[in-house]
Amino acid sequence: MLEELFNAVRDAGFSGLAAYYTLIMTGALAAAVMIYLKTDKINCENKVKRRVYVAFIAAGAVGFFCSNAFKWFFIPNSFDFPFFERVLRSGFTFFVGMLTFFGSALLILKLLKQNAGFWVERAVPPVAAFNAISRVGCIFLGCCGGIHIDADFFGIRLEHFPVIEIEIAVMTVLFFILADRKKRNVKNKLFWYLLVYCVLRFFLEFVREDRGAHSLAGLNVPQLIALSVLAVLAASLIINYAKTKKLFKEKTPPPPVNG
Ligand SMILES: [Zn+2]
Repeated sequence: MLEELFNAVRDAGFSGLAAYYTLIMTGALAAAVMIYLKTDKINCENKVKRRVYVAFIAAGAVGFFCSNAFKWFFIPNSFDFPFFERVLRSGFTFFVGMLTFFGSALLILKLLKQNAGFWVERAVPPVAAFNAISRVGCIFLGCCGGIHIDADFFGIRLEHFPVIEIEIAVMTVLFFILADRKKRNVKNKLFWYLLVYCVLRFFLEFVREDRGAHSLAGLNVPQLIALSVLAVLAASLIINYAKTKKLFKEKTPPPPVNG
């Protein structure tokens, strides 16, 4: 029954492509609405809010473009095709889109002289939701799946390692933890989200079907990106620790000499 429904939706257009794009757009729309509502609730000047909206819209555009453009370099003969055909053939990489979205949002908000860290924190749960929803699109398209296995998991036969299902489950849980329900207020959301996503992605890449060519020490491109982001997170922790523990002591000025 469920399988029939799934197949019907998938075959409704271009063997899953329509469902794939619909879910990406649904995820993006849900995230945009959540960011709008979160921003709207904050008590501040309308001028500030307008700048925040502009920053997030621009960052969203940058993220979407980069998530597509990054793939141009990894699809054979990609540059032989005219621009729009190349865009359509390339699909999207969530990882690069997510990183460039956060990066450009921080940068644009800084340029607009806003408290970038404060506002970007509010966009983290919506991105986790987008992450989970758009991955459902991958199930319909049949991309980003796990390697072939033949296993029995509590009576459910698994033909592929459930890479996408694991990502959807983890991101759904993370969304509810970060979404500040029941007056819980998780600090450093961007840090936690990036930490969880990069660790998860690093390990899931070992069992992904589209693993691609190993590029360095047996690691593929997403794994190298994940390690780079984790290195940045570690550096930020060390810097933060050093600051709070005053490891880099500022030289105390000598006491004033009387006379
Ligand atoms: Zn996919």
